[in-house]
Amino acid sequence: MEQLRKGRRLILFPLPFQGHINPMLELANILHLKGFSITIIQTNYNSLNPSNHPHFTFHSIHIGLSKSGTSTKDPLLLLSRLNAKSREPFRECLAMLLSDVSKEPVACLITDSVYDFTQSVVESLKLPMILLRTGSASSFAIYAAFPLLREKGYLPKQDSRLEEEVTELSPLKVKDLPYINSDGPERFFKLIADLETQTMASHGLIFNTFEDLEEHTLATIRQDYCIPIFSLGPFHKCYPANSCSTSSSLLAQDQSCISWLNTQAQKSVIYVSFGSIAAIDKAQFLEIAWGLATSKQPFLWVVRPGLVPGSDWLEPLPSGFVETLNGKGHIVKWAPQKEVLAHQAVGVFWTHNGWNSTLESICEGVPMICMPCSSDQMMNARYVSDVWKVGLQLQHGFERGDIEKTIRKLMVEKQGKEIKDRVLKLMHKANFCLKQGGSSYQSLDALIKHILSFR
Ligand code: UDP
Repeated sequence: MEQLRKGRRLILFPLPFQGHINPMLELANILHLKGFSITIIQTNYNSLNPSNHPHFTFHSIHIGLSKSGTSTKDPLLLLSRLNAKSREPFRECLAMLLSDVSKEPVACLITDSVYDFTQSVVESLKLPMILLRTGSASSFAIYAAFPLLREKGYLPKQDSRLEEEVTELSPLKVKDLPYINSDGPERFFKLIADLETQTMASHGLIFNTFEDLEEHTLATIRQDYCIPIFSLGPFHKCYPANSCSTSSSLLAQDQSCISWLNTQAQKSVIYVSFGSIAAIDKAQFLEIAWGLATSKQPFLWVVRPGLVPGSDWLEPLPSGFVETLNGKGHIVKWAPQKEVLAHQAVGVFWTHNGWNSTLESICEGVPMICMPCSSDQMMNARYVSDVWKVGLQLQHGFERGDIEKTIRKLMVEKQGKEIKDRVLKLMHKANFCLKQGGSSYQSLDALIKHILSFR
């Protein structure tokens, strides 16, 4: 399987959040299998254990973020602190790596597109840079349309217009447009503007998506940008699961999920997880719990510590709740999600529609119940429910009756059967694009040629 070594080293720089680390490490695995040596620069904040990835070389940069600096509830403030604190240590580390003549020559830097300083650093060091965009191609295209959306008054979002369709981006509604809550909209708009500037100046852009899923958007992006665009996804399916699949999980994955799933009937279980960042309040948490309990379906629920701010774990549940489930529910702090979705007992994924979760669900042919919270999740959910039609949105947010009804629709009614058929078709397309001659296979070949063309 492993190809001849290419005699070139690639330096990868993931953003230290779970939804960004996973695809970057998956990409590292793919490029390593294709013969490149891989060096990962990581911040000491949310760092991975290098011994779990012995085939990569790790360099940790100390970015001096204090506990109070990282404990903010404002994700954009945290991001801006990360950017400010990482710039200098990153520049020093990269310069040191480039001056090391004992190792193979460095071909390029592959960095997360959300860092706002890497372009100026590589420019001063004369190193080509390729960006990894960890969200969908469609979200990238919408970010590019932000100036227009602002001009037309769709953004910043106004409560009175949330249900209005954005005619230029049908079927998106104003409420679906990407947004991250911060102290006013300007910080988010700056992030998007920086993303655009970095992209224009880069030597290429990689997406974790595939042509059959976002063909039209990818074609538009290729037309609008004069840099090479690669769509190699789904990354985690590009290499055999056992070849280099060591987890890049920041939290310990509870393997009891798999033994519990082994005891459940085929396609009977609702898997519930809202990713690594989303937070919900106590009332919403209780509606989810009762909606699951009254659905009478078995469920596997990831309650991440911190999911309900202010509580450690399951304290908001009424006393005796777990006992009333009679073994129908299994609750864990963190799951081996890809393994869970691939398990034959899982019938539905109730998700916040982070891009990785959305793609992982599609790849296993698992229909979704969508409960987006922030960022690009609202538009991912709209694509799932209204474009690919492989899931349903909760119509009334967190309301136990609606939750129970939606679960029933997907699990037992005719509409659910149609949705299942469609997601299975999409799963086959995802598998097909990775085979020799498939679109992602070809795009990976093109990326390798592109990297080898750097002097
Ligand atoms: N994940 C996991 N175990 C869990 C929940 C999530 O391993 O219990 C992984 C999931 O497979 C995905 C990532 O964490 O790769 C979450 O990324 P996503 O883009 O879905 O959401 P985010 O956490 O960025 O909001």
